[in-house]
Amino acid sequence: MTFKEHIKMERRALKELWQHHRTYVICMCLFFVFQAAYPYIPTYFSAEIINNLYEGAPLSTIITNVVLAVGLTFLCHGIVRFVQPRLSVAHGNTFKTEDWLYSKKAMEMEYSSIESPDVALLRSRVRQESHTGFNLWNLLRSVRSYVENITRIICSLALSISFFTSSGVPLFGKLGIVGFLVISIIVDAFCTAKNQEITNKFWDDSSVVNMMSDKYEDLINNYSYAKDTRLYSMESGILSRIKEFDTVENKREFKRSLKCMLVNIPRVLVADILKFCAYMLLIWCSIQGAMSVGDITKYVVCIVGLIGAVSGLVKYIHLSFLNHTYLERYFSYFDIPNNMYQGSLTVEKRMDNEYYVEFRNVSFKYPNTDTYALKNVNVKFKIGEKLAVVGMNGSGKTTFIKLLCRLYDPTEGEILLNGVNIKKYDYDEYMQIFSVVFQDFKLFAFTLGQNVACAPTYDPKKVEECLKNAGFEDRYKSLPDGAETYLYKRFDKSGIEISGGEAQKIALARALYKDSPFIILDEPTSALDPVSEYEIYSSFNTITGDKTAIYISHRLASCRFCDNIVVFDNGSIIQHGSHESLLSNKNGKYHELWTAQAQYYTK
Ligand code: ADP
Repeated sequence: MTFKEHIKMERRALKELWQHHRTYVICMCLFFVFQAAYPYIPTYFSAEIINNLYEGAPLSTIITNVVLAVGLTFLCHGIVRFVQPRLSVAHGNTFKTEDWLYSKKAMEMEYSSIESPDVALLRSRVRQESHTGFNLWNLLRSVRSYVENITRIICSLALSISFFTSSGVPLFGKLGIVGFLVISIIVDAFCTAKNQEITNKFWDDSSVVNMMSDKYEDLINNYSYAKDTRLYSMESGILSRIKEFDTVENKREFKRSLKCMLVNIPRVLVADILKFCAYMLLIWCSIQGAMSVGDITKYVVCIVGLIGAVSGLVKYIHLSFLNHTYLERYFSYFDIPNNMYQGSLTVEKRMDNEYYVEFRNVSFKYPNTDTYALKNVNVKFKIGEKLAVVGMNGSGKTTFIKLLCRLYDPTEGEILLNGVNIKKYDYDEYMQIFSVVFQDFKLFAFTLGQNVACAPTYDPKKVEECLKNAGFEDRYKSLPDGAETYLYKRFDKSGIEISGGEAQKIALARALYKDSPFIILDEPTSALDPVSEYEIYSSFNTITGDKTAIYISHRLASCRFCDNIVVFDNGSIIQHGSHESLLSNKNGKYHELWTAQAQYYTK
C-alpha cells in the first residue's frame, strides 16, 4: 500500500466508525481524556504543596492548593465515573451493530456470492478478525490510544516545560532525553512491525483451519444434524477432528507468543534505560541545586509519562498502518457487488393479466464450474398457465427455477417478463411476483402463523385458510394455540415437532399466503403420504386459482393436470407439450419415463 492509500483507508475507516458508532466514539474520547489527565492533578499540586512547605509559603496558599488538588481530582473522577456506564453500554451496542451490519450484508448478498467458496473464506476471515480485535476493532483501540496518549503528552509537556527551559539542567541532559526518546520510538516501531508480521502470518495460516473448525462445531450445534450424528455414532469422530484442529492451533499459538516475547525484549530494554537515565539526570540536577524537591517528583512523573505516551502513540500509529491490511479485507467483504440490484423498472400491474415469461437461448454454468447446468433453453409461458417441469434428477429443473427467480443470472441468453429482460426490473419488486417452495425449504422455530406469513405479524384468518388449502387442517385443529403454536422447541418448551410431510404442507401454505401471481412448487409432495399427495393434486387447480403455476417433479403421474409439460434432459428442454401429445410420441423421453414409472401408478 502506498502512503496515499494508507491515508485513504484510514479516512474511510474513521468515517465508517463515526457513521455507525458515534456514541461509542464520543463516550470513549470523554472517558479517556479525563482518565488520562486526572493523575496529573495530584502530581502537579503535590509538587506545589511540597514547594510551598519548603519555601515557607502562607497557610492560605497551601490550603488553596490542597482544595484545588482534591476538588479537581474529584471533578475529573466524577466525569470518568459518569461516562463509564454509558461507555460500557455503547461498547456492547458496537458489537451488536457490527454483527448486524455483517449479517445484513450476508442477507443482501447475491445468492451466487453466498455459495462461492472464496466468499465463504472471506466471510469467515472477516468474522474471525473482528472477533480477535482486528479491522474496525483495532481502529477503535487506536482511537482510544490516540486520545489517551495525546492527552498524556499534552499534560506531561505542560508540566515539564520548565524542565526543558531551565538553565539549571545541562544541555547534554536535555538532548540525551530527546535523543533516547527518538531511539525508543525507532526501536518501538521496529518491534511493533515485527510483532505484527508474526501475528499476521499466524492469522493467515489459521484462516482455513478456523473455518474448518467452525464448520465441524456447527455439525454438533446444529439441531438438523442431530439425528444422523447419533444414529451413525459420528460424535466421537467429529469431536476428535475438532480436537485435532485445536491441538494444531494451540501449538502454533504458543510458538507465536514466544516469538513475540523475544521480539519485544529490545523495546523493554530501551524504555528502561531511558527511564534510568531520566532518574539519574534529575537526581544530578537536584544535587546541583538546580531544582526543588517538589519539582523532582513532578518531572519524574512527567518525563516517564512522556516517554510512555510518545512510545504508545507511535506504536498505535504504526499498528494502525498495519491494520490497514485487515481493514482492506473488511471493506472488501462489504464491497462485494450485488448486480441483482441494478434494475429499476417497476413490474407493471396489468389489469388484463396478460403477463408472459420467456426464456430465450438461456444457458447457465454455476460459478466456478466448467459444465453447463442449462444449455440453450427456450420456453415461453403465459400467466394462468399450469406448467410442469419434468426430468431425471440432475437434469436442470431446479436450476431453471433458480434462474427464473433471479437467484442467479444466465451465463448466456436472457429471460424476459412481458418482453423486458428481468434484469431491468427492480429486484425486490420482481421477487414479489413469485411464491416458491423449494425442495430444501426451511421452517423457523417461530410460531406457525409467523412461519406461514414469513413475518412477525400476520392475518390469522388468512393463515388458517392457507393451511386448510395446503391440507394441514386436521393437525391445525388439534393445536392448542392454533397459529400461535411454536414449531420446534428452540424458543418455546411447548413447541411442537412436525413430520416431513407436515412441514411440506406448511411450506405450501407459506407460498399460498404470499399470494403472488406465480406459484412455483419444486417437488411439493415428495414427503407426503399417498393420501395427502392425492388430496393436493385434486385440489391443485383450486389452490393455485388463476395464478401461473410451475410444478417441478420427477413423478410424471403428478403432472397430468398441467396444461403444458416441458421435459428436461441434461440441461436442455428436449420435449414440450400436453401430457397426451407427449405420451403419443413413443420414441420420446417422456414416454420412456412414463412407461418406467407407470407400473407404480396403474394399480
Ligand atoms: P434437478 O433439479 O433436475 O435435479 P438441478 O437443477 O438441481 O437438477 O441440477 C442441474 C445440474 O447442476 C446438476 O448437474 C447439478 O449437479 C448441478 N448443480 C446444481 N446446483 C449446483 C451448485 N450450487 N453448484 C454447482 N453445480 C450445481
